[in-house]
Amino acid sequence: MASRRKILIVSDPGQGNINPSLRLANCLLKIGVEVTICTSVYGVKHIKKETIPQGLTIAPFFDGHDNGKQPTTTLQQVVLDFGSNGSRAVAELLSSATAAGKPFDYVVYTVLLAWVAKVANAHGVKSALFWGQPAIILQIYYYYFNGYEDLINGCKDNPTLQINLPGLPSLTTADLPSFLSPSRPEEHDFFLQIAKDHIEVLKIFPKILVNIFNELESESIKAIDKFEYIPIGPLVPLDRKDTLDNSVGQWLNTQPKSSVVYVSFGTLAVLSMEQVEEIGSGLLKSGRPFLWVIRDGEQARKLSKIDVLKKQGMIVNWCSQVAVLSHEATGCFLTHGGWNSTLEALVAGVPKVVFPQWSDQGTNAKLIKDVWKTGVRVEARKEDGIVEGKEIERCVELVMAGDREMRRNAEKWKDLAREALKDGGSSAINLQAFLNDA
Ligand code: UDP
Repeated sequence: MASRRKILIVSDPGQGNINPSLRLANCLLKIGVEVTICTSVYGVKHIKKETIPQGLTIAPFFDGHDNGKQPTTTLQQVVLDFGSNGSRAVAELLSSATAAGKPFDYVVYTVLLAWVAKVANAHGVKSALFWGQPAIILQIYYYYFNGYEDLINGCKDNPTLQINLPGLPSLTTADLPSFLSPSRPEEHDFFLQIAKDHIEVLKIFPKILVNIFNELESESIKAIDKFEYIPIGPLVPLDRKDTLDNSVGQWLNTQPKSSVVYVSFGTLAVLSMEQVEEIGSGLLKSGRPFLWVIRDGEQARKLSKIDVLKKQGMIVNWCSQVAVLSHEATGCFLTHGGWNSTLEALVAGVPKVVFPQWSDQGTNAKLIKDVWKTGVRVEARKEDGIVEGKEIERCVELVMAGDREMRRNAEKWKDLAREALKDGGSSAINLQAFLNDA
């Protein structure tokens, strides 16, 4: 009998990467693969016990940031320290597994960690990127570093200029990953360098496990034949009504079907107080019940209309998003368009108002609005980028009361996503084919 396949997943410690890594580990374990996840002590500390799949081995390493990024440290330093300490930890795991006569068959690594492919190669082990954003983002980076830099930079003085890259939908500045935006802050050049490292490494080791399913980006994944995309998603928990927080669940149960606007900006985005006030004013204007996650308790307390807001909706600092999205009372998701949030709404069939902040979110908004047609995108004030209350209201109304097409599309994509996730669905077949090649 062939021995069990053995895979090492090296994950960036951020929630947006570690959670999909755990879900990938779960899928692999279920089909008999032996899986180890390697990340920093900080990353491991933040894993919720109930999300750890049975049989998973976790290999944490110290990177000097056990309590996460402190205000005195730059993000750049944190990423560099993760890389230098992580390289040693991964090398050690690979050589000790080989020395014990049970070498790893594959190393899978997340975004920001292109160095892993080189460490794996030095130990004679194959590697694949686990890309937790849509494929189109990698394609855009590929084109930027391979002949299209001038075209993309050319949109600097002309935000409406159409950027046509082979095989991709026509884009404008607002649709680009923020690290390519002409208005990016200087420190983001560091992330651009990391994107470049990924592209260079992928030219040598081109396998990419991507958190989408075949139909979601059927054109984009064919645009560059050098890259070998393996759609294995959407890796998101399904439904999970059981995890609904008591007070939130009770409140949602009292609301009519598809009536609630759910508002959340993920785990990282920081909004100004002025912007938070505008969102509050938009929600009030809409007159619709809402569930609003404001992570920063101080901001919630400072809201000038907090008393009226609390009469119309509910404000919390966290909720079980997957459970909220799958509750039948939820009718619209006002989101920053993070990839996990996008996929979670997609499998729940909830249409969106997208208010992108940075990184892949502008591109995700483009896909949601123009490609899948399951939502609208807010327009910000030109002078200062603030999205006014009346714009929030306009967009919420378009989704809640506009033409039914958006809701029908959301249902269509929900069905396709669930089809891909079934036993014997396309994502399971793709993952098995990847393993057969391991
Ligand atoms: N999330 C949640 N409850 C909240 C806010 C966020 O469960 O109150 C989860 C959400 O379900 C998603 C993740 O946090 O899985 C956010 O990831 P995403 O990629 O959307 O955004 P990021 O936080 O990386 O910007």
